[in-house]
Amino acid sequence: MEDCIFCKIANKEINSEILFECDEFFLIKDIKPVAKLHYLAIPKQHYARFEDAKDGLESLRKIFETIPTLKQKLGLDDGYRIIINQGKNARQAVQHVHVHILGGQDLGEKIVAETQN
Ligand code: AMP
Ligand code: ZN
Repeated sequence: MEDCIFCKIANKEINSEILFECDEFFLIKDIKPVAKLHYLAIPKQHYARFEDAKDGLESLRKIFETIPTLKQKLGLDDGYRIIINQGKNARQAVQHVHVHILGGQDLGEKIVAETQN
């Protein structure tokens, strides 16, 4: 999709170090890491939300299937946390589904949102 940063990386219009790639998705380092290790697994097909996926979420299935096989290569043997932001309340910044994979350190509390009342 035009003007989508992740589509541009997928199409190699923007240079990025791709650490893993298959037909369904690719994996890069996040440019603003929030943990010692912070990766993004990004479906090649453009869709902003789960409900928009035309591939029946096959790419996400493939991501979840593949991550364990990359654990050692990515330094995630001691565990990792997966985050997927969907929509406004999650402050999804890039409107192309992506899976954050955090690791390389103790990631602290599991629930990080602050209550508002
Ligand atoms: P989200 O808030 O879930 O939409 O997260 C978007 C993420 O994409 C942020 O963590 C950004 O740091 C990351 N990001 C944006 N542009 C790039 C890029 N060119 N390469 C790697 N990560 C990026
Ligand atoms: Zn896109």
